[in-house]
Parts: sequence; C-alpha cells; structure tokens
Amino acid sequence: MKNLLALNWKMNKTPSEAVQWAKELRAALPQTSAELAIMAPAIALQGLSLELKDSPVKLGAQDISAHESGAYTGEISAAMLKDVGAMYAVVGHSERREYHGESSQIVAAKAAAAIAGGLVPIICVGEGLDVREKGEQVAYTLDQLRDSLSQVPVLGADQIVIAYEPVWAIGTGKTATAADAGEMADAIRGALGGLYREYADGVRILYGGSVKPANIAEICAQTNVNGALVGGASLDVASVVGLAAAL
Ligand code: PGA
Repeated sequence: MKNLLALNWKMNKTPSEAVQWAKELRAALPQTSAELAIMAPAIALQGLSLELKDSPVKLGAQDISAHESGAYTGEISAAMLKDVGAMYAVVGHSERREYHGESSQIVAAKAAAAIAGGLVPIICVGEGLDVREKGEQVAYTLDQLRDSLSQVPVLGADQIVIAYEPVWAIGTGKTATAADAGEMADAIRGALGGLYREYADGVRILYGGSVKPANIAEICAQTNVNGALVGGASLDVASVVGLAAAL
C-alpha cells in the first residue's frame, strides 16, 4: 500500500502564497514512493490545481459541509471542492471538534457527504492528554472511530483514510513514540476489521502530531501506519522535501 503524506496547512497561506509555494515545491520535489497531497484552505485549491495540474501532487480540503447544497451560509460542499480539483477532505480534525463543536455524529455526516460527492474523507480521531494519562486512549479512540464512521458505507478500501492524531501531540512538539502510534494503528485496523471486513486491510491509517523529517520514517515503519498527516512541518518547502524523501 502506498504511504500517504497529507499536508495540513491549517489557516495558513493566502491563495497567491499557496501558488508560489507550489511552484517552489515542483522545482524541489524529490523522488518519493509516497503519495503527496496538500490539504489547503478551500480558496487556495483552484490556484493550486492549475499550478499542479501535470504533477503527481493531489489536493484536499480541511473540512467539508455535511450537506449537498442549499441554504447553508458559509459552507462548502463536496461538489464545489471536487470542481476545483480536490480529491480528499479532512473531517473531524481535533481543532474542528474542539473549536467548532463538531461531534462524531457531525463528523460521520461530513464523511458520508464527502464519499457521496466523490471525495475521500480523511477521518481524524485521537485522545486528549487527560484520556492518555488515565491509560484509556485505545477505548476512547476506537469509540470515536466507530461513531465517526457510523454513517459511512464503505464500498472499497480506498474510499476512506483514517488519521490517528493524539490531541496532546498536535503542534506541541510532543510526538507519540513510534510504538505508541503503531499500537493505536493496530487497534484501529482491528476495529476496521469488525466494521468493513474484507476492505479493512486496505484502508490507509495515518499518524499525525508533530511529525517531522527526523521522525516520519520510524513512525511510518510501523506495520499499520500508512503515512502521516503533517501540520507545522508542512508549511515550508524544504521540510516537505525532507518528509517526502524520508518515505
Ligand atoms: P502538527 O499538526 O504536525 O503541527 O502537530 C498535525 C495536525 O494537526 O494535523
């Protein structure tokens, strides 16, 4: 299975900065066995799509509406994202869950909307520090996973991607150890087996949380870790080149 290196820019880069960045990336991109995808602010997608049209780099959004179309002011639908070249949509990122009140039910509806609109949702799950300190991270994360998949009919392994992102490791410089990431990925793979049977082995499971060029190889060497969702280290071309080269 091809590793996925998903770059989560969060609320960074104007559309023109994004295009400039993509030009620099194209000039610097090393040979990599991984699939590279940029989760850009929605308004940067069209420009990126034009700039990257003959390149292997894929695009995605950081969020998506749970609705198909209609009176939902400020929302962006799957059809709109697909029209500007997106292939993926992150759903249920912990920052959306925390700052925008997104429950796993909302996340499940968004993931279903992404699939219905022909996009691949990257569904994020992961525990906070309080849960980890109690040693309850596996049960917590698997509950969140099942709830976040509750409206998601999987008709093939490549229709969804799961990202395990322990909240305490996001943007903090604290990375879960490769063994921690591997252990959770094994548990997620097991839970997917209960839900999706024959497809479970083909679903990509990413790790996210302070991933850098120096630690990505060890993390992605874990049996059930099939790539990374990278925030801070995704903003700088040199660092992305380092990440891609390490995979
Ligand atoms: P980070 O963010 O790499 O800056 O920790 C990861 C994420 O939030 O997806």
